[in-house]
Amino acid sequence: MRKKIWVIATISLLIIGSVIGINSTDTNAKSSNQKHNNGKVKNVIVLIGDGMGPAYTTAYRYMKDNPSTPQMEETIFDKYLVGMAKTYPEDSEENVTDSAAAATSMAAGVKTYNGAISVDNDKESVKTILEAAKESGKATGLVATSQINHATPAAFGTHDESRHNYNDIADDYFDDMINGEHKVDVLLGGGTKYFDREDRNLINEFKADGYNYVTTTEEMLENENDHLLGLFAPVGFPKAIDRKESTPSLDEMTSEALEKLSQEKDGFFLMVEGSQIDWAGHANDSVGAMSEMEDFAKAFETVIEFAKENEHTQVVLTADHSTGGFSIGRDGVYNFNPEAIKAAKRTPEFMAQKIIEGNSVEEVLSKYVTFDFTQKELKAIKDAASKDDFDTLYSTISEVFNDRAGVGFTTSGHTGVDVPVYAYGPKNEAFSGLIENTDIAEEIFGFLK
Ligand code: MG
Ligand code: ZN
Repeated sequence: MRKKIWVIATISLLIIGSVIGINSTDTNAKSSNQKHNNGKVKNVIVLIGDGMGPAYTTAYRYMKDNPSTPQMEETIFDKYLVGMAKTYPEDSEENVTDSAAAATSMAAGVKTYNGAISVDNDKESVKTILEAAKESGKATGLVATSQINHATPAAFGTHDESRHNYNDIADDYFDDMINGEHKVDVLLGGGTKYFDREDRNLINEFKADGYNYVTTTEEMLENENDHLLGLFAPVGFPKAIDRKESTPSLDEMTSEALEKLSQEKDGFFLMVEGSQIDWAGHANDSVGAMSEMEDFAKAFETVIEFAKENEHTQVVLTADHSTGGFSIGRDGVYNFNPEAIKAAKRTPEFMAQKIIEGNSVEEVLSKYVTFDFTQKELKAIKDAASKDDFDTLYSTISEVFNDRAGVGFTTSGHTGVDVPVYAYGPKNEAFSGLIENTDIAEEIFGFLK
């Protein structure tokens, strides 16, 4: 009975809150936040969940739900929701965005063609908010779990007519200078393959210019240099639940970046990307997707804690687009079962790799999955394993989890739905309502003036 009254009271508050235009769930945090600063922004932190459309943040809420209570508890994201963003590109052939065009919109405030790395439709470079921050004397950082020269981080720190020019993009991080300095003070992600090449060793060049170079979690935690290059994988990281301790979490990298960048008295700009929500979406892998959501959520939690302790910090979190046509519920069944996803101790990608390497199907599945597979599921996986094709095996194992969990996918590509926008700081209203993804950059350029 008490619970019922509480629920009714909460619902009424929510209605009153939305009528008078306040985010009722975070009234206290918001008003105290506004009280202690004068609306000035010194530090800007942008977080991007690549591919993180609304179905991902909702599925994550189901994953975190305590089943012994009737209400579905809030996630770290929920109380900071301020609106939605439109993601369409300005491309003559495609009207669903890729990560490059969307990142250019959010970094430079310009709609452009799919594949563009902070260049416009005339292939001219367009200034980014990271560059504007550097010009105004702020420290800058990029953190990702993809290679650090992948589309999203690349669009903040470099310019290229194609996202596929990975070596040129990596070179840009070193070669493009602002006021005699490299543009990005802290670079943390994957990509040794592109930085240590036969024709050029950018790692040695960065070291010669005073950067500390680290390749493991332990080395990163020991770092005391405010100029830091951390490359922890040849290309992208393993998914969070597949990582060894020597490969840092997104949260650990974010904490390190915040610690170093916040030493700059003029403030800083940091972009943190949960890069592989998208990659799991492309693979139609719900286990991998939820692993990456958790990695991203923890980094957000750390950023919020930082912003609460450091006034004049504006945080904005969004996605570049949604991926996979991910849905909660499928095949006419009104049920999503998170337990099926939680039963996986590693991703289907990891399990498929183990099987391809010669381990038996039964051995791998019983080691990494807590439920018992049906004969039908086992047969499908064994048939796929006998084809000795990684992609087929990966998708066959993924489908067992998707089917049991009740999640669907419609495409191996992106979808054009609006994406949620979250904010915390003195300028939240700048990102509220239904906005264009370009508004994010435009507003931040304003704060940096
Ligand atoms: Mg990306
Ligand atoms: Zn993608």
